[in-house]
Amino acid sequence: MELQVAWHKILNDLKSQIPAHNFKTWFSQTSLKEIRDDRAVINVPHAFIGEQLKTRYLNLLENMLSQIFEKNLSVEFKVDGKVKTQDDEDIFIIDTPRQNTSNLNPKYTLENFVVGLSNNVAFAAAEAIVQNPGTSYNPLYIYGGTGVGKTHLMLGIGNALLFKNPSLKVIYCPSEKFMNDYVEAIQNHRMVDFRAKYRSADALLIDDIQFFSGREGTQEEFFHTFNELQSKNSQMVFTSDRIPQEIAKLEDRLKSRFAGGLMVDIQPPDFDTRVAILKAKCRERGTDLPEEALKLLASLEINIRELEGKLVQILQTLKTQNLESTIENIKPLMNARSVKPASFDHRKVLSTVCGYFDLKPGELTGPNRQRRLVLPRHIAMYILCEDLSMTVAAVGQFLGKRDHTTVMHGRDRIKNLILSDLEIQKIMIDIKQKLIS
Ligand code: ADP
Ligand code: MG
Repeated sequence: MELQVAWHKILNDLKSQIPAHNFKTWFSQTSLKEIRDDRAVINVPHAFIGEQLKTRYLNLLENMLSQIFEKNLSVEFKVDGKVKTQDDEDIFIIDTPRQNTSNLNPKYTLENFVVGLSNNVAFAAAEAIVQNPGTSYNPLYIYGGTGVGKTHLMLGIGNALLFKNPSLKVIYCPSEKFMNDYVEAIQNHRMVDFRAKYRSADALLIDDIQFFSGREGTQEEFFHTFNELQSKNSQMVFTSDRIPQEIAKLEDRLKSRFAGGLMVDIQPPDFDTRVAILKAKCRERGTDLPEEALKLLASLEINIRELEGKLVQILQTLKTQNLESTIENIKPLMNARSVKPASFDHRKVLSTVCGYFDLKPGELTGPNRQRRLVLPRHIAMYILCEDLSMTVAAVGQFLGKRDHTTVMHGRDRIKNLILSDLEIQKIMIDIKQKLIS
């Protein structure tokens, strides 16, 4: 079989076996390079990806390839034609010790970052960078929605670097700070100081880089900072709410530099991770809440940052009113401000569900009963009934004149799946976050 065809077939199989965002991260830029004797060589864009594929999917890949080519094959990963070996590590050398000038909030560490399916790729990248800063994965570009933990992870990297070597100059700055510093430097004729500061960093962490949009002067200066740091092997980490290509009014040369290292996304956490994060936050505050209460909290349709706010509010109320942490006491506090009328309508439900599954609205409301349409249709039914309190008859009418019993069936199917199926929980949280954002 032709290599390309074989690889295409394998990717298709994999797609149905692993979560979509993992698939995208690990496999989107891979190819089958050659089969020689009993070896299959897979091309990967980064050593990092190769290593991760090796730990996560080696067996699976070997099995699939062996099956297709009808012989026992062992898999090797190659970056740009070069085989990556275990001891290929580069060494990071730092010059004379310096006074530590970092401004990192020590509260956010890699240790207290809860790892789940939604962020394990980004977390692995963060760990790899701490192991070996400034070399293989430079810059690291982390992107994702609000409150998914981008800033936390970035600070975690900075704190871990400092822990390993307290004399490193690690600069963390929100992008606004970089812009303001730049503007001030120009106004006060202090560009020399500005450059001395940023270009001497061993690690530069810039948060929410999307705000560089439209700031031409800043971009120009930053471009040179970037080049200087990269040539010195100083590690750079950036976060953003979107990929570089989608940042408006950003110079092309910056886009390509941002994308030239390792780009990883963080998805909104699934239900279990949300519960685990809440647990961790309680632990940090030296308290605990019943599992049931945490689960109830985690199911609120708000992002992690808001969820944490809610948790703090509840803990405070329990304390000031001297209440025991029982589910009976907590429940009323939870509902105090969380039950708000839905901020979306039935049209938005249709467009959001379709957008999530990459379908046309006409497909979802049409007569076709293909499997790929059924789950999205049922999810739409569930949300329309449960969140918008539409009647089953109205939902049926809206979704292509369907019978009300069909709607009841779809709604109840999702209701059950939500309780038992992790993947569905994740899908529902993702869709609901899109609906309320
Ligand atoms: P972002 O920068 O992506 O908007 P943050 O990093 O500010 O989000 O995270 C918001 C809050 O949620 C922080 O208090 C952070 O500690 C917490 N948080 C988010 N994800 C995690 C996680 N995986 N583990 C622990 N805390 C998390
Ligand atoms: Mg942030």
